[in-house]
Amino acid sequence: MNNRLYGNLIFELSHKGRKGYSLPEDDFGDYELPESLRRSHDAELPECDELTVVRHYTNLSGNNFGVDNGFYPLGSCTMKYNPVINEEIAAMPAIANLHPLQPEATCQGALEALYTMQKALSSIAGLSEFTLNPFAGAHGELTGLMIIRAYHHNRGDDKRTKIIVPDSAHGTNPASAAVCGLEVIEVKSTPDGLVDIENLRPLLDETVAGMMMTNPNTLGLFEHGIPEIAQLVHDCGGLMYYDGANLNPMLGVCRPGDMGFDVMHTNLHKTFSTPHGGGGPGSGPVGVRKGLEELLPSPHIKKEGGRYTVDNSQEMSISSFFGNFAVVLRALSYILSLGKENICRVGPLATLNATYIKEQLKDDYLLPISGLSKHEFVFDGLRDKSTGVTTMDVAKRLLDYGFHAPTIYFPLLFHESMMIEPTESESLETIDGFIDTMHKIAKEAIEQPETVKSAPVSTPIGRVDDVLAAKHPIVTYRQLKAEE
Ligand SMILES: *Cc1c(COP(=O)(O)O)cnc(C)c1O
Repeated sequence: MNNRLYGNLIFELSHKGRKGYSLPEDDFGDYELPESLRRSHDAELPECDELTVVRHYTNLSGNNFGVDNGFYPLGSCTMKYNPVINEEIAAMPAIANLHPLQPEATCQGALEALYTMQKALSSIAGLSEFTLNPFAGAHGELTGLMIIRAYHHNRGDDKRTKIIVPDSAHGTNPASAAVCGLEVIEVKSTPDGLVDIENLRPLLDETVAGMMMTNPNTLGLFEHGIPEIAQLVHDCGGLMYYDGANLNPMLGVCRPGDMGFDVMHTNLHKTFSTPHGGGGPGSGPVGVRKGLEELLPSPHIKKEGGRYTVDNSQEMSISSFFGNFAVVLRALSYILSLGKENICRVGPLATLNATYIKEQLKDDYLLPISGLSKHEFVFDGLRDKSTGVTTMDVAKRLLDYGFHAPTIYFPLLFHESMMIEPTESESLETIDGFIDTMHKIAKEAIEQPETVKSAPVSTPIGRVDDVLAAKHPIVTYRQLKAEE
């Protein structure tokens, strides 16, 4: 289907005087808007008939690629299937039409859902209490770090202004720490991709507020040193922060609370199956161990004598109302429909799928770190570097074969990173299809490198200039033609 038939922008389809609506005569007569509120000239809006508008947006939506279209192995982002039942529940009128200012007595069911989720996350994570208020993973990180700051401040210990972050961490970790006013101290990784404990030791002193860790880390490796690291950080008076954006591999295997973490966030929109991408919607609940509950922000849902109440007693509050309620509901629906038994199968299955792909492809693609990995892993581009075909080329060629590209050029530890995460929800046939295609591309890279380097050829546009798009984005449409 050639979308260009319908024009790239709705403005280009505009015809003066063409209308897509008709309204009945109004019964109220004319009324005058105050002069100060009136426009001096008409708004520059496109004028189109309804069918043209429908086709334009339907065709545009067809250019989008989502997990419902095809395999989406985007490492660190957990693009698992989002079951439709979650959507049905979140869209139920009794839920969707609730108002956040409704009296508690009229929305006991919604409060029960929030309360159940607080408890479910506590039990999954092995922590004491959760807040569901943060709107994203990074927002959860900021909240968690503010909790750590408040903990030290309340003890009169204000010289702890440093936070230790591994060099393999997700970019939001140092960013959130900086927004929180903490100084980021980087700890190096060993050649086998784990936190270097010998590099960590000398960094620990009475100015350290805590340490952020991701486990499995962004290379998909399990950080075996955590008990020792947690001991060292606690001994120097710091707290341990766990970035649980991707809790997937942990589900049913182990719990951050049992490993010595004090504060964590998780991303409901990754681990607990609610649709995400393009900037939202998200939810990044934050959990704390016993003893830190008082530092969680308001509001918090409590259960007293069989009734659910909203506790607004904490001074700290990061969002009005209850966070992203519809996202929390989808995640709760996912957790309850899987149940304890099946939630426990998620981690092992996700790990099995990733390991299967890694083993099948490691002769064609360079595995910079050997050994066991978990739900995701990283290749450092093609094994044969003589072809000149880069990770970017492979990623673009995958689009021609109907797959979404993996995460590329992240983590920054390697030059040609290609981070693959299949998730637990894919069938063996889909995974085999991806493996075959990756083999085919590796073969093309040797036999006809130009084909790979000029990909994609099947998408509405080919390669865009990413730098130009980022540095000089054009986000408004100027009616150049009209002005010419
Ligand atoms: C996605 C991710 C984040 C940030 O989550 P957002 O919801 O995008 O803000 C943080 N840490 C890790 C490891 C992630 O994968």
